[in-house]
Amino acid sequence: MVPIRPEVESFVPYEPGLSIEEIAARFNLPRVIKLASNENPLGVSPMVQEVLHGKVPHAFRYPQGGNPRLRKAVADFHHVDESQIFVGAGLDEVIDLLFRVVAEPGVDNAVASCPCFGLYETQAKLAGVELRQAPLKENFAPDTEALLALTDKNTRLFFLTTPDNPSGYWTDPETLAQLARRLPKTCLFVLDEAYIDFVETQNPSLLPRLQEFPHVAFLRTMSKVYGLAGMRIGYAILPPHLADYLWRVRLPFSVSILAEEAALAGLADREFYAKTVQTVQEGRFFLTEALRSLGCKVIPSQSNFLLFMPPAFVSAKNLHNILLEKGFILRTLGSYHLPDYLRLSIGNGEENSLLIEALTGIFHEENHG
Ligand SMILES: *Cc1c(COP(=O)(O)O)cnc(C)c1O
Repeated sequence: MVPIRPEVESFVPYEPGLSIEEIAARFNLPRVIKLASNENPLGVSPMVQEVLHGKVPHAFRYPQGGNPRLRKAVADFHHVDESQIFVGAGLDEVIDLLFRVVAEPGVDNAVASCPCFGLYETQAKLAGVELRQAPLKENFAPDTEALLALTDKNTRLFFLTTPDNPSGYWTDPETLAQLARRLPKTCLFVLDEAYIDFVETQNPSLLPRLQEFPHVAFLRTMSKVYGLAGMRIGYAILPPHLADYLWRVRLPFSVSILAEEAALAGLADREFYAKTVQTVQEGRFFLTEALRSLGCKVIPSQSNFLLFMPPAFVSAKNLHNILLEKGFILRTLGSYHLPDYLRLSIGNGEENSLLIEALTGIFHEENHG
């Protein structure tokens, strides 16, 4: 038998949200509402759909190596130099390559909170890099002192997710600036801003102060606010020498022709973007209030999802299963070490109302039935 690397033998795969097809077939349901993977409640922008239709005949060509048009568009969009942009097949690919480019297996380490986004754990493991984790504080804020205490001269990546997944906790830029100043210059401060667009404040990101902090990487994705999770596009704004090495090692065509066209059109459609942000912020307010009035503990969120604990008379696991039978997919959080909580992506107005209606019925049954 061909031996398998030890890191791979003990590898625990990332757990994706359940799919609509799976649940519709299992429970024989005509309609299933998926609120499990933080996807866009408005679907795909009509402008992107139109562009994609027109580009289908080009799909027989390879994409242009290095996706130069997209690289330039992203740089222009953020008013930074092209040399600072790296684009990948989703942020997942960017995260994977960061480990493999900066951290030497068995020697270097990375630092993140616990719980954290699952990909940091899986890709560290696959790269053979130790991931050191410090528990979040009680209010789901990162424990910056504990994280710094784990950092040493071999720490190459220091992850902070803002807003965080799965809590929706947002760390303000001033806290990040102070943290950045205290990190060794041999360590890349990775700010995962997958959900930054949903924060309800004027300046949610440290990005405008990029010049002050040359060892910070900003990670953004087209999967959430741009509604393109299925196309797989993510990007990083990072120090030019790192961007250069990421481009060198990336599989040459990982971002497909259609993904590139979708990303270009997506960035340009500011109307869809604004509508998405508004829908999420309104839905977040509605669902937070509604869940609280039903007796749930809801963690305040600045993201497009809510972390909540159901009332004492029904466990998160049972509630998840009852909701599945009724055609609602939420996210269980065993893999995030939060088995008593569920995570719920903000849907559109109709989806949110149907969910609250269903929960009202379920809670009535469970409490009095
Ligand atoms: C969704 C998500 C990503 C990655 O998204 P891609 O679809 O791979 O671009 C990265 N970080 C966090 C925290 C996420 O929740």
